[in-house]
Amino acid sequence: MKKVLITGAAGFLGSHLCDRFLAEDYYVMGMDNFITGDQKNIQHLIGLENFEFIEHDVTKYIKIEGNLDCILHFASPASPIDYLKIPIQTLKVGSLGTHNLLGLAKAKNARILIASTSEVYGDPLVHPQTENYYGNVNTIGPRGVYDEAKRFQESITMAYHRFHGVETRIVRIFNTYGPRMRLNDGRVIPAFMGQALRGEDLTIFGDGMQTRSFCYVDDQVEGIYRLLLSDYSYPVNIGNPHEISIKDFAEEILGLTETTQKVIYKELPVDDPLQRQPDISLAKKLLNWEPKVDRKEGLNKTFEYFKTLSTEELYKSEH
Ligand code: NAD
Ligand code: UDP
Repeated sequence: MKKVLITGAAGFLGSHLCDRFLAEDYYVMGMDNFITGDQKNIQHLIGLENFEFIEHDVTKYIKIEGNLDCILHFASPASPIDYLKIPIQTLKVGSLGTHNLLGLAKAKNARILIASTSEVYGDPLVHPQTENYYGNVNTIGPRGVYDEAKRFQESITMAYHRFHGVETRIVRIFNTYGPRMRLNDGRVIPAFMGQALRGEDLTIFGDGMQTRSFCYVDDQVEGIYRLLLSDYSYPVNIGNPHEISIKDFAEEILGLTETTQKVIYKELPVDDPLQRQPDISLAKKLLNWEPKVDRKEGLNKTFEYFKTLSTEELYKSEH
């Protein structure tokens, strides 16, 4: 049986990856320090024969006994309000954490896949974004802690590949959503759905003309799984190219949640990218992958999940 280590396992994407690799008959070791994750996301896995959980901060030395076949490094704050609140930890998990995991991959002769992001393109001047675009990032802006940590992560990953011959994979993830996102993590889908459920007006930042392209979690996990199994070491975009403005998206959420609230406008956060859409030609060609779940279906599934939260969870605020 193959053994995989998944960091960020108690987070949104990490927990779905644990489910997928267990379903593919892997022995799964999940690692997390719960800084933005939740025990609840892996509760259903605790006690399973092929699952083991290790509470650990990946910026500290990582000791794993025995063999290891693969590593998926997904530990990192991922929402703007999270990485603005914990900027140093964000830089450390992308740099020191990635270094530790690459060292572990080298020692164990394991294949390692690194979770990068569309944020490496910053506020992009090329649209849609292709993998060969170098990006437009403000290194010293508040978002820079995340963007530059991820850019460093890609560089050190390529260096371990070129210099040490480690088998590496880099996925550039575009906005992904689904069940198990934290309702109050500040990202637009949980934010709008939480507001709809609490009977509040939906907060649009800026004029709402900025765009995003939202990918459902099952499609994202399938893309990541195929990339891991491929033999391609350069970055690959995985996301859904169906682009929408935040203003239109707010209207879509109001319709879907059948609520009568209004939208209100708030200040646009600094360096908020104006447009984002993945070019997925490479993933299509290389992995024979493209997203299957349309936004309506994905949003309905996500809203069903948020509806199951308790009143206490619905009103819990972190900011
Ligand atoms: P998340 O916050 O739900 O999960 C991240 C997990 O990492 C949390 O459980 C957190 O506790 C853990 N973590 C953070 N620092 C750690 C450390 N030092 N040691 C151990 N665990 C640590 O976020 P997510 O949306 O699931 O994102 C997962 C990964 O995917 C991140 O690397 C993120 O940058 C990347 N990503 C996500 C998206 C998206 O749209 N969801 C987009 C681009 C990239
Ligand atoms: N956004 C918004 N209202 C909110 C939360 C977010 O208008 O309550 C906007 C945000 O400014 C950004 C877009 O929605 O333009 C997506 O934000 P998110 O934090 O989900 O992802 P990211 O900016 O990292 O793509």
